[in-house]
Amino acid sequence: IHKSCHGFLPAPRHLRCQFLSGAEAPRWNDHDTPEEFNFASGVLDYWTQMEKEGKRGPNPALWWVNDQGDEVKWSFREMTDLTRRAANVFTQTGGLRQGDHLALILPRVPEWWLVTVGCIRTGIVFTPGTTLMKAKDILYRLQVSKAKGIITTDTLAPEVDSVASECPALKIKFLVSDHSREGWLDFRSLIKSASSDHTCVKSKTMDPMAIFFTSGTSGLPKMAKHNQGLALRSSFPSCRKLLQLKTSDVFWCLSDPGWILAVLASMFEAWTAGSTVFIHHLPRFDPNVIVQTLSKYPITQCLAAPSVFRMILQQDFTSLRFPTLEHTCAGGEALLPEEQEQWRRQTGVLLYQVYGQSETGITCGILRGMKIKPGSMGKAIPPFDVQIIDDKGDVLPPNTEGNIGIRIKPTKPIGLFMCYQDDPVKTAETECGDFYNTGDRATMDAEGYIWFLGRSDDVINASGYRIGPTEVENALAEHPAVAESAVVSSPDPIRGEVVKAFVVLTPQFLSRDRDQLTKELQEHVKSVTAPYKYPRKVEFVPELPKTITGKIKRNELRKKEFGQL
Ligand code: ATP
Ligand code: MG
Repeated sequence: IHKSCHGFLPAPRHLRCQFLSGAEAPRWNDHDTPEEFNFASGVLDYWTQMEKEGKRGPNPALWWVNDQGDEVKWSFREMTDLTRRAANVFTQTGGLRQGDHLALILPRVPEWWLVTVGCIRTGIVFTPGTTLMKAKDILYRLQVSKAKGIITTDTLAPEVDSVASECPALKIKFLVSDHSREGWLDFRSLIKSASSDHTCVKSKTMDPMAIFFTSGTSGLPKMAKHNQGLALRSSFPSCRKLLQLKTSDVFWCLSDPGWILAVLASMFEAWTAGSTVFIHHLPRFDPNVIVQTLSKYPITQCLAAPSVFRMILQQDFTSLRFPTLEHTCAGGEALLPEEQEQWRRQTGVLLYQVYGQSETGITCGILRGMKIKPGSMGKAIPPFDVQIIDDKGDVLPPNTEGNIGIRIKPTKPIGLFMCYQDDPVKTAETECGDFYNTGDRATMDAEGYIWFLGRSDDVINASGYRIGPTEVENALAEHPAVAESAVVSSPDPIRGEVVKAFVVLTPQFLSRDRDQLTKELQEHVKSVTAPYKYPRKVEFVPELPKTITGKIKRNELRKKEFGQL
């Protein structure tokens, strides 16, 4: 039994549905691998019991708002009741069984939490997808995941219907709407009439729980399959140190519900700590709405992609002081050191960084309270043993560039994906000696801080120098002419490869002389970073190629440079 330093953590005993008082609760150890684990019965129902016993404060478990002034507040008791109903809707009405795949394509609506937890109660494997998808994207995902069911809204239902005949595995469709639609089951009314009696499956920790589609930055999205252990990992002491959430915290994660980050942050991390999950419907990212929301609601912690913080900083807000905000985190993409600094100056709140993948969940990060080294992604979060490795899987010394690897031998850590669904070849390709190779390049300093350089394919090899695009993009970003940039390798008759920057200009610089600007940007890069990194070629473009959620597809630019597109 390990004494909790911040208390209120679920205990192994809860698996057997015995509830201890929060203060006495033992907790999981970083390297525990229990035979059975289920987030719904082990964590959510624990907090329901704490609520019943008066051992948790009055904050709701879920607090949802939208622009129209609607609000939903559900306690843990209500969450338990509603998610049991959802479980019954899926199995009894929908005929879905443990192990079946359910495509979950919902915007930020309260039902998303009923679906995910409802699936966990039944062992149905949920496969989230973003609502930004079009018919073609949905078709691809339904076909490769062989989803038996789908749940979505009115907006996407016609798109689904337009491709459903090409998806032989698809048997059942649920609609989350106030209207009905032919061929679809009405989830909202079914929840109302369903029974709240449900016995949670006794899932094994290694049983599949969810399949996440990767973003598709470097090709077609891959299906990273995770087991129930992904949720267990949130209970590990080392993970709790990342955000140090408490029952009194109101935590807002802005990630699209189609990504692993939303499942981790807006559900496992927050509810493991008994915190309130705050959610704004946010049909699109409007910096004004985000700033107003942070001012109006008692949000204490906020996690979002770097681009969200960038968008806010690019507006001229007179004040960015938020009354209750204590902690902010960015992840999913490179965070520029100067944005970190600007955010701190303007809000008075430090901006921490986390790094992860659909395959790995949160891999490393700056733990709350740990010294921030601007630009670093922080340190490994156990049970992950993160090392910088060479192409044979040997660990490299400090400050040496290599691949970010996670040790999988002799034991694969809890929280790492099981495999790419139906793709043993791709899965095997990620294994490198005793490590899982993330395919990202970085260095680690003597203190264990990890510094991201770029994806392996994106690193440029120019005249014997290895250059990460992020370093050059960071340098360019400091220049007022640069709204955004992407740096890639480009062929050169003499040097083999050179650094090329694709630059989107800020409005004030659009009319400037391009040749002169090119020289200015080159001089600027030489002055702020090692001169060999400066872009020998600069091309000004109106926009950069991006994935549905806005990640820059450098490989497309690179292929164009090398004449493959
Ligand atoms: P695909 O694998 O389909 O090409 P993807 O790798 O973008 O797409 P995700 O799993 O959503 O799909 O994203 C993980 C990747 O995002 C990481 O491998 C890394 O390249 C990038 N990333 C995540 N966090 C950070 C961070 N803090 N700094 C820099 N890059 C990050
Ligand atoms: Mg990837």
